[in-house]
Amino acid sequence: MRASRRPLPTWAEIVLLPLVNIVLAFLVVGVIVAIIGVDPFHALRLLVTGALGSRESIGYTLYYATNFAFTGLAVALAFHAGLFNIGGEGQAYIGGLGCGVAILALDGWLPAWLLIPLAIAASALFGAAWAAVPAWAQAWRGSHIVITTIMFNFVASALMVYLMVNVLIAPGSMTPQSRTFAPSGRIPAMHDALAAIGITEPGAGSDLKAIRTTARRISDSDGDGYVINGVKTWCTFAARANVLMLLARTDTDRTKTHRGLSVLIVPKPLGDAHGFMFDQPGGGKMEGRPIDTIGYRGMHSYEIALENWWVPADHLIGEEAGLGKGFYYQMSGFENGRLQTAARAVGVMQAAYEAALAYANNRKVFGSNISEYQLTQIKLGRMAAIIQASRQFSYVVAKLMGKGEGQMEASMVKAYVCKAAEWVTREAMQIHGGFGYAEEYSVSRLFVDARVLSIFEGADETLCLKVIARRMLDAVK
Ligand SMILES: Cc1cc2nc3c(=O)[nH]c(=O)nc-3n(C[C@H](O)[C@H](O)[C@H](O)COP(=O)(O)OP(=O)(O)OC[C@H]3O[C@@H](n4cnc5c(N)ncnc54)[C@H](O)[C@@H]3O)c2cc1C
Repeated sequence: MRASRRPLPTWAEIVLLPLVNIVLAFLVVGVIVAIIGVDPFHALRLLVTGALGSRESIGYTLYYATNFAFTGLAVALAFHAGLFNIGGEGQAYIGGLGCGVAILALDGWLPAWLLIPLAIAASALFGAAWAAVPAWAQAWRGSHIVITTIMFNFVASALMVYLMVNVLIAPGSMTPQSRTFAPSGRIPAMHDALAAIGITEPGAGSDLKAIRTTARRISDSDGDGYVINGVKTWCTFAARANVLMLLARTDTDRTKTHRGLSVLIVPKPLGDAHGFMFDQPGGGKMEGRPIDTIGYRGMHSYEIALENWWVPADHLIGEEAGLGKGFYYQMSGFENGRLQTAARAVGVMQAAYEAALAYANNRKVFGSNISEYQLTQIKLGRMAAIIQASRQFSYVVAKLMGKGEGQMEASMVKAYVCKAAEWVTREAMQIHGGFGYAEEYSVSRLFVDARVLSIFEGADETLCLKVIARRMLDAVK
């Protein structure tokens, strides 16, 4: 009698077996590649960078892998039900068609919160209906399931081409694609959450009383709104944001200084290039020029010129009661921004410290790792102490602000921690020697990123002068 085989533990089935399969496949292919005279490691590098080395290659990998993933999923699911289904690719295809048709039919009628679940349901329904045909053919006609499901993949592809070219194509278009979905048919993207802030002007940064941009109320047959004229600068993310939060002078009486300012929500089209230029039907113009910077390159900032740009009157923050309150709204917003900037500075310092520590443990100078020299240890010790103090200070202020207090402390923590980040990243760069100055080492980026933290969200000097010292002096008067 044969001894029955013990089943493998689940981890071995899920992790070990696929891993052994992959390793064996690489080994066999590696041997063949070596036999034809090519370095297998070079081939492996090409394979990995070709599949994952850039945004385009990741896109292509996902595009091709999706078919395999759906086919694998369909096989596995059907297997659990004692069936066989190798047509996941075609079912996914028709599922996608269901999603597209539902959105094209209803995006002019339904809001996103209703349309998106509906489109998902339509997608599931179409995919299931497509799978039901070969299932029916097998149950009632005894058709071979492998052949029918694979055949249905080809039928799905041909059907899709027919529908795209003859039915779904946008009228007047040469390319086989449907019209663009309305915004309610899109899953929210990053720019939907982005608002650019338009406060600073070329002639007004720390001193917001000097703001010159005007928002003039006009009510005529075209509607009730504000016409904006002026130049804003350093508006971060302005190209990809579809809304600008703008501080402008709504009162023509300039003697009112900061009491003549209000905040307006200014919708704008989405820019698809580095700079942008938009026209409004009524003649309004908005032009954005990117500002090249030495660091913080992940967030582009823009100078924006607005000429007769119109926004509806109800885009005034605080409605009529918000007239003249813009400066105060802005100041209260800055408090959160200051704490958040301090927290960013802690992160930058921590990353610089970790990079310096790793480098010091590896770099040999005069025969020893530099981490073994006391001078390096003192540097690392001081850096660690400053980071810890900055982190704890940030936590304390966060707790205060959570209770609705800590307005002055938010300025204090920002002024101290951002300056500390400059010193810590400088020391981290110094530990790296010449390599610290090379762009390929992250510490060079951290050094320039840290530099800007004590400039925006309230420059150091302004915070000390206008917020901290003023409150301190008021307290002892
Ligand atoms: C990368 C980056 C992103 C930014 N993002 C935005 C954004 O999204 N939206 C936005 O509106 N703005 C943004 N800003 C602008 C930023 O808020 C301003 O740069 C900042 O408020 C300082 O203003 P300013 O550049 O006009 O400097 P200024 O006000 O001209 O100050 C110049 C220097 O003088 C000092 N100073 C000011 N007053 C005194 C005084 N009384 N005595 C002594 N010294 C003084 C300042 O501290 C500073 O060191 C950004 C800036 C940068 C660099």
